[in-house]
Amino acid sequence: MTSTTSAYVIEPPKIAAVAVASGGLFPVRRVFCVGQNYSEHAREMGSNPEVDPPFFFMKPADALMPDGAVVPYPPQTNDLQHEVELVVAFSGGGRDVAPEDAEALIFGYAVGLDLTRRDLQAAAKKKGRPWDMSKGFDHSAPCGAILPRAAAGAMASGAIRCRVNGAPRQSGDLADMTWKIPQIVAFLSALTEICPGDLIYTGTPAGVGPILRGDDVEATIDGLPPLTVRIG
Ligand code: MN
Repeated sequence: MTSTTSAYVIEPPKIAAVAVASGGLFPVRRVFCVGQNYSEHAREMGSNPEVDPPFFFMKPADALMPDGAVVPYPPQTNDLQHEVELVVAFSGGGRDVAPEDAEALIFGYAVGLDLTRRDLQAAAKKKGRPWDMSKGFDHSAPCGAILPRAAAGAMASGAIRCRVNGAPRQSGDLADMTWKIPQIVAFLSALTEICPGDLIYTGTPAGVGPILRGDDVEATIDGLPPLTVRIG
């Protein structure tokens, strides 16, 4: 036995991370996502946006992909879809966080894509089954560089867009989020402790649609580093 022998019986997995715009890497613990957080998108998904509190699902941290990545077209789907989202990165955390205390926990913001196997999601919804395999597959969470909060501001408004091969697909405004960031933090932290390293994908505006092999997907939010990926 050498001093470098660890108790791990296999090589420990790498820590997932997202680039920070000003340099360095933000290590990621968990990736939470908010469902149907813009009323026009909730309607296009067949839900009533006025009634429900926010609901959450998750993606594995190793599903993150950086700006400029080639995202392999996933197996077991004929309907891969784009969802551009504001991503919130946490340097602090807590349980039962009051909305007014949420902002101080935030490290920064990024542009993300919540890639979705829509056909598998529709089948899961129909049978009341979990969304994991429609949302949390390999490479399903592209995320652009994180802009620290001091440089980004509160991100309460601003255009959020997705283009595919240069053609506009999604266009909305952060101000149209049904549940704002402080409320999302309050709801999520009532369900589970938020921890440093956590990300929240905060939902997508209307206009989601299919993407194909070879497509260039460009996701932008005013004031944040853009995110472009190619579907491989
Ligand atoms: Mn989404």
